[in-house]
Amino acid sequence: MKVMKVEQISHHVVFILLAAAVQCQVNPEMCRYPLGMTGGQIQDEDISASSHWSESTAARFGRVDLDNGDGDGAWCPDIMSEPDGLTEYLQVDLRSLHFITLVGTQGRHADGMGNEFAQRYRIKYSRDGSNWVGWHDRKGRQVIEGNRNAYDVVLKDLEPPIIARYVRFMPVTDHSMIVCMRVELYGCQWLDGLMSYTIPEGHQMIYRGLDVYFNDSVYDGASAERLTKGLGQLTDGTWGLDDFLHSHIYGMWPGYDYLGWNNKSLPKGYVEMIFEFDRVRNFTSMKVHCNNMFSRGVRMFRQATCYFRSGPDWESDPVTFRPELDRISQGARFITVPLGDRTASAIKCRFHFSDGWMLLSEVAFQSGSAVYNTSLTPRKHGRPTNLLPGEDPFHKVDDSNTRILIGCLVAIIAILLAIIVIILWRQVWQKMLEKASRRLLDHELTARLAVQTQAFSSLHSSLTSDSGSTSNSTYESIFPLCSDYQEPSRLIRKLPEFAQSTEHLGPSISPRALASSGLDGAPHYAEADIISLQESADCYSITAVNMNLFSGTDSSMREFPRHKLAFKEKLGEGQFGEVHLCEAEGMQDFLDEDLSIEGTNESPLLVAVKTLREDANKNARNDFLKEIRIMSRLRDPNIVRLLAVCVDTDPLCMITEYMENGDLNQFLCMLRLKEAAGGDKAEPEEEEGESMVSYSKLIAMAVQIASGMKYLSSLNFVHRDLATRNCLVGKNYTIKIADFGMSRNLYRGDYYRIQGRAVLPIRWMSWESILLGKFTMASDVWAYGVTLWEILTLCKKQPYSQLSDEQVIENTGEFFRDQGKQVYLPKPLCCPDRVYNDLMLSCWRRNAKQRPSFQDIHTQLMESLA
Ligand code: AMP
Repeated sequence: MKVMKVEQISHHVVFILLAAAVQCQVNPEMCRYPLGMTGGQIQDEDISASSHWSESTAARFGRVDLDNGDGDGAWCPDIMSEPDGLTEYLQVDLRSLHFITLVGTQGRHADGMGNEFAQRYRIKYSRDGSNWVGWHDRKGRQVIEGNRNAYDVVLKDLEPPIIARYVRFMPVTDHSMIVCMRVELYGCQWLDGLMSYTIPEGHQMIYRGLDVYFNDSVYDGASAERLTKGLGQLTDGTWGLDDFLHSHIYGMWPGYDYLGWNNKSLPKGYVEMIFEFDRVRNFTSMKVHCNNMFSRGVRMFRQATCYFRSGPDWESDPVTFRPELDRISQGARFITVPLGDRTASAIKCRFHFSDGWMLLSEVAFQSGSAVYNTSLTPRKHGRPTNLLPGEDPFHKVDDSNTRILIGCLVAIIAILLAIIVIILWRQVWQKMLEKASRRLLDHELTARLAVQTQAFSSLHSSLTSDSGSTSNSTYESIFPLCSDYQEPSRLIRKLPEFAQSTEHLGPSISPRALASSGLDGAPHYAEADIISLQESADCYSITAVNMNLFSGTDSSMREFPRHKLAFKEKLGEGQFGEVHLCEAEGMQDFLDEDLSIEGTNESPLLVAVKTLREDANKNARNDFLKEIRIMSRLRDPNIVRLLAVCVDTDPLCMITEYMENGDLNQFLCMLRLKEAAGGDKAEPEEEEGESMVSYSKLIAMAVQIASGMKYLSSLNFVHRDLATRNCLVGKNYTIKIADFGMSRNLYRGDYYRIQGRAVLPIRWMSWESILLGKFTMASDVWAYGVTLWEILTLCKKQPYSQLSDEQVIENTGEFFRDQGKQVYLPKPLCCPDRVYNDLMLSCWRRNAKQRPSFQDIHTQLMESLA
C-alpha cells in the first residue's frame, strides 16, 4: 500500500470538517480532487496503453509527478507500431464511475536530459469499457492544448465534465516530436449510478424573433428523435439561470443551459424520460432543476409520475408527485420528487406540462445512504480553484442524524492522527536505514575504487606519456565492415563496479545503485540495469529513453518507378546492402519545391540508391523501412535527403541525394592540412591544392555538422552514431549527416545486433552510453566532440588509437569514477587552445547537463571562424 503524505491527510481532515460544516452534497466546484495517479490509489494494473516503446516507458509510469522529482518515468507510445500515430492512448480504469472535472498532463524532463511532452491531446471515455465516446468541449472542439515544456503540469478544465469509469489520453502528434505523457484525473466518485438517460430531443423556441435552442448539446449517446444511451446537460453539474435566455457560460446561444419542450409538440401533455442505473438501487428522491419564467410561458412541471423497473418489465404502481405551483416567483429552482424508497435499476418519469413550455437543466438521484446530488449552489465559472490533494470529496451525509455524523468524524480524525503518527515514525526509521546503508555503500565503493585505481594508474601513466601501447586485447571486433563498432558488454564486466554484480550475490553496485547513491552526478535516465540485462541476454541492451518517434509513412515519400533507375557504379556497402550511383530519369517530378540540390534541373539526375540485400530477414526489412520513415521526415540542408523509394516490389530501395565526395572519413583521410602559423587563421582559397585543406575549411565542415545536429536536436532526435564515417561530402565541401541505422535500431529500445551480437561505436560513445545505456542529445554532443577531433586530425588515426577496446572501456570507467584518471583525446595539432579547451573538452564533461548544446557549439564555432 502506498503511504499517503502527511499534507494530503491534513487536507483530508480539513475537507471532511468543511464538508460536514456545509452539509456538502455533490458540488462540481469542490469535485476537483486527484483521483490517484499521483497518489498511487490507482493501481498499476489499472493503467494500460495501446503500446509503449520500452519497458521503462510503460503505461504504469504515466503518473503526474507533483513533487517535481527527477522527471523521469513517463508513458511513451511506440508510435512506430501505429502508422497513423493517431490511435495511441494511455488508459486509466477508475474502477467505478467518476465525475471528472479536470485533467492534468505533464511531460518528461529527466533532470534536463529529456524533452518529451504532448503538445496536444484528445480524450476518450467510457462508462462500460466497450462504448467509447470522444470528449469535446461545449463548442465541439476535441483537441486539448497540452504541455509547452517537459516540466510543468498543465491542468485543463473539462467543460463539460465527464462521467466515466475509463478514460483514455490520446496524444495528437505530427511525428515531429517525441511524445511522452504523465497524467492525472481530478474529480470525485459519481454516486448517482446513473449510466444513461433517454429523452425526447429538445425543441426550438422563437422568442421575440430570437432563436432559442433547448437541445442537449453535450449529450454523449445516440441522438435521433429521442436521445438514447448517453448522459449530457442534465448531469453536467451546470444548471440554468432564472432567465433562460442567458447562460452561465460565456458565448453560448440563448437557451443553452436548458433542455426544453413545447407542450403543443407533445400531444400526450408530458415529457417522458427514462433513467438507467448501474445496478438495482433503493431510491429516496430525485431532484429536478426547473425554470419557472411564467411571464414567457415557461413553468415547472405540474406532476411527475415515475415508474420503476428492476427486471425486464415496468412495475404497474408508479409514484406520483404534484409540486405546489409557484405563481409568484419566477426563479429557477430544484424540485425534490420523493421516490418512496422504491427499488429499481431504471426509472421512467413523466413530467406533465403546466404551461406552454417546460425547461429542465439538471436531474439527480438519491439512493440508499449514498445521498448526494449535484451541488445546491449554482456553479461559478472561472479559473480552476487550487486543488487540495485529497480524496473523494463526496460524502455520505445523513443530515437527519448529526450525532452519528459527528461520531464518525471524530473516529475518522482519530484514525487519521494514528496514520500520521505511523507515517512520521516510518519516515524517521527509513531515514535512519538510508543513512546506514549509504555509509555501507560508500565504504564498499571506496574499497573497490582503491583496487581499480591501482590497476588503472599504470594504464594512465602509459597513456599520458603517449607510449603508444599496442593492444594484446582478446576482444574480438565483429562489425563486418569496420572496427569502429565493438561489443562492450564483456568488457564492461571487467570494470570492478560492474563485474561484482554478476559474480556474487554480495553487496553489488550496479550503475543504477551508484546513481541513486548520489555518487553519480548525472541524472539517471535509462531504467536499464545493464548488468542484469547482460546476464539475461548476451547482448548490449539499449533501453534509454531519449529517442524520437518518427513514424508513419510520409505521404510525400513517393514510389519511384524502378525501371527509370540506370545503374552507373557501386558507391559502397553498408549494413543493409550495397549503395549504387544511378541515373534517375524524371526524378525532378519527385522533388519537393524546397529541395535545393545542385543539378536538380539536370535530367537524368544522379542519385544514390541504397538497396536492401536480397537475403535480408524480416527484421532487417522492417528496420530498412523504418529508416525510410525516419529519413522521410528530416528536412535540413545538412541532413542527407531521401528523395523517393522503391518499396512496392523487392528489393527495397531508398533513393537519396548523391554526395559526390563520399563519406567524410575517407575524404579527409586523403587530404593534408595546409600548414599555417596560428592554425586558426583562415587560409586564402587559392592556396589550397587538390589534396590540401585549410583549418578554416575544416571548421566550416564541423559547423555544418553542428548545424545538422542542431536541427536533429530541435526534433529531440538522438542520432547515436555521429562520426565522420556517417557524414557525406558533396560539392564545395558541403557536409550532410547520414546513416540513421543506429537511431533506428536503438530507438526501439531493442538490442542492436549484427550477426547476432551487439556492437557499438565505443570510441565515439559517452561514458553513460556505454555504462548505463543512456543515449541522449548530450551523448550525441560527446560523439560530436570526437567527430570534431577526427576532422581536425584529418581522420589520420582512430580515436584513442593507442588504446585497445578493453582499455577504452576501462577509460570509460575512469570517466565514471571521475578521479582525474580519465584520458581525453589529445589536442589536434592545428586546433587552437580555446577550441580544444572551451569546446572539445566541454563535449566530454562527465555531467551531461554541463555539456554544451548543439546550438552553443554551432554559435561557438561560427564565432571562432569570424
Ligand atoms: P551506408 O550503407 O549508408 O553506410 O553507405 C555505405 C557507403 O556508401 C558509405 O560509406 C558511402 O561511401 C556510400 N554512400 C552512401 N550513401 C551515399 C550517398 N548518398 N552519396 C554518395 N555515397 C554514398
